[in-house]
Amino acid sequence: MRRKLAAGNWKMNGTKGNLAQIEALASAFPDPACDVLICPPATLVAAAAALPDRRSVRIGGQDCHTGVAGAHTGDVSAAMLADAGATHVILGHSERRADHGETDALVRAKTDAAHAAGLIAVVCVGETEADRDAGRTLDVVAVQVTGSVPDTATAANTVIAYEPVWAIGTGRTPTLEQIAEVHDFLRAQLVARFDQGSDISLLYGGSVKPGNAAEIFAVSNVDGALVGGASLKAEDFGPIVAAL
Ligand code: PEP
Repeated sequence: MRRKLAAGNWKMNGTKGNLAQIEALASAFPDPACDVLICPPATLVAAAAALPDRRSVRIGGQDCHTGVAGAHTGDVSAAMLADAGATHVILGHSERRADHGETDALVRAKTDAAHAAGLIAVVCVGETEADRDAGRTLDVVAVQVTGSVPDTATAANTVIAYEPVWAIGTGRTPTLEQIAEVHDFLRAQLVARFDQGSDISLLYGGSVKPGNAAEIFAVSNVDGALVGGASLKAEDFGPIVAAL
């Protein structure tokens, strides 16, 4: 059975004072029906993981380097994230693909590094608005999944997040039919390629809010969400966790 996951991506937001949101979330869901993950900025990963009242809330990174250690100023390795208490790492987010020119090959190498460190990789894919308008959505996500996810991916070490670039932080979402089309397509791709393809969780991401989470979670092959803005406050993320 696929694991359900409500994952929050704080992006470049949050200082120590925001860690109270993780404890508030944990106390609201002492025994959540799904896995709950918060990915704060790298500066907060260790402190978040060490929170005395974190309970079952898992902590993840937002990126990692392909190497374990070395002369890479400003970078963080998967092994360092694991050492800090992270269990997951988001890789290939569209903001990193756009801001840092990350290619599918690089995301794949980072995913290998995450797996080697024992982290669960949350690999992001998604089309731009121009791709969708040109009818290229399925081709684009197929190429991204093929290129970004290594052959060694299993249900235990990999989660895929479908995040249409045009839906991230915009308040716009695809129709439920459009989400279903992509998720069903990705499921078929995973089943065709991986022994455990039917068990790899598929998240939807892009302007998920308390008001639309339940209908999105009811869509076929949606196993949870990767949430940006609405994950920053427990009062917003809590209803999303509850909807899963
Ligand atoms: C994201 O950053 O992955 C994301 C989906 O952002 P938002 O929920 O704010 O659209």
